[in-house]
Amino acid sequence: MLYISTRDTSERKEKVTSEVAVCRGIAPDSGLYVPEYIPTLSADTLRSFINMDYPSRAAYILSLFFDGMAYEELLSMCRTAYSDDRFPGGAAPLVHISGPMCSLELWHGPTCAFKDMALQIMPHLFTASLRATGEKRTAYILVATSGDTGKAALEGYRDVPGVRIKVFYPTNGVSRVQKLQMMTQEGDNVSVCAIEGNFDDAQSGVKRIFADAGINRRLDDKGYFLSSANSINWGRLAPQIAYYVSAYCDLVSAGVISMGDVADICVPTGNFGNILAAYIAKRMGVPIRRLVCASNANNVLTDFIATGTYDRNRTFYTTMSPSMDILISSNLERLLYFVAGPAETSAYMKSLAETGRYTVAPETLAKIKGDFAGYYVDEPGTAATIKRVYETSGYLADPHTAVGIGGADEYLRCQKDGCSAPIIVCSTASPFKFAADVYRSLTGRDPSDEVSALGELSELTGKEIPQPLSRTLKLPLRHTRVIPTKDMPDEIFVGL
Ligand SMILES: *Cc1c(COP(=O)(O)O)cnc(C)c1O
Repeated sequence: MLYISTRDTSERKEKVTSEVAVCRGIAPDSGLYVPEYIPTLSADTLRSFINMDYPSRAAYILSLFFDGMAYEELLSMCRTAYSDDRFPGGAAPLVHISGPMCSLELWHGPTCAFKDMALQIMPHLFTASLRATGEKRTAYILVATSGDTGKAALEGYRDVPGVRIKVFYPTNGVSRVQKLQMMTQEGDNVSVCAIEGNFDDAQSGVKRIFADAGINRRLDDKGYFLSSANSINWGRLAPQIAYYVSAYCDLVSAGVISMGDVADICVPTGNFGNILAAYIAKRMGVPIRRLVCASNANNVLTDFIATGTYDRNRTFYTTMSPSMDILISSNLERLLYFVAGPAETSAYMKSLAETGRYTVAPETLAKIKGDFAGYYVDEPGTAATIKRVYETSGYLADPHTAVGIGGADEYLRCQKDGCSAPIIVCSTASPFKFAADVYRSLTGRDPSDEVSALGELSELTGKEIPQPLSRTLKLPLRHTRVIPTKDMPDEIFVGL
């Protein structure tokens, strides 16, 4: 399986192995790596998954995209990454909420958000790729985070040999708990820096550093090369495909549907990575009917799916689902590529860079609408959903998951054909990671403070605080720097 850039319009495209795609993170033309074709899963293969555990299912899916690695090697990586130690509540359990809706809980890992599903396995894929490509330099992983990626990348890459990692986060754009998780990060190869800006500023800053030839040369002189752990890296995306395939098989083995019946999937979306993985699972042959893209008040994707115009020139809102406070959804570029090819994709990305907006061709929009529906849930709607779902079904959702549930509700209300199918809502974070907002939504009262909120939420609901979060609260602060966005290029050389 070879990989090409979403922006490569040349006749003889540059094709690279999965190992090179993972080491580089982003293509030299600033496009994103995509597989040359999407492999398919036969009904028999899906059936054979029914009796497999999660690591075996994940290793099989990964083997289709990383065909330079042996299945046994991938299986051993998956057994380590998704062990009961790291995911004490299971890697991707499916929990019934009510009616046709169930929750795919992806937050039982070490940082209590779904990013762990990719970032626990990605360092294994990455170091194997470094070995395969004969890379001698140290990988310098740069991450821009809206909160959850940073911590998950730091946990995944801490003390991994041959790797150094630096994380930038918006100083006022993450929750108190997320901030503490990053400020207390352990490990000798890690560094964390807050910026005075929002997530898009952080992400654009990182992208500019990647594209800066001078910086890359200086790093090379020092024996480093840049790489990413953001969901622009294919090594982040591929592992996410596995849990959609797995969830479908779990619906079948639970007897909710028969093999071949359709299910809908709703994903609370920010950078479009998680839902893109669901799209790929659909294209691989998993009987997924609709992909419901749920956004918060930053509803640029809802408008895009409705009108075909992507326009980032709009008010940016800081919400209680900060990991979705994004106006440039990078992975949408991969969808555009799959739907419309590299020429259209390059033109749209050029227009986005120059004007902040683009409008896709009518045929492209029609294809997108065939697979996707888009809804958004504002702040009062998110709070009301948290409260209603808890009171009617006992299910405690974090604000991101609540956006997903609210979006799925809206989708179900708008279904005209009345043909019912189960709907899987991705649950992307533990409610305790956003305890203050969850507590406020449930009670209408403020908790004593953001940190005591964890205990207060636990008392109110009788649910236990996940161990990694209670531990974070006791660790010393190690990373406290805050810098202006424009200083990011200098910051990456600190300590080299
Ligand atoms: C990252 C994140 C999202 C958004 O996922 P994308 O892949 O960026 O669309 C949603 N919820 C939580 C909790 C997250 O950490």
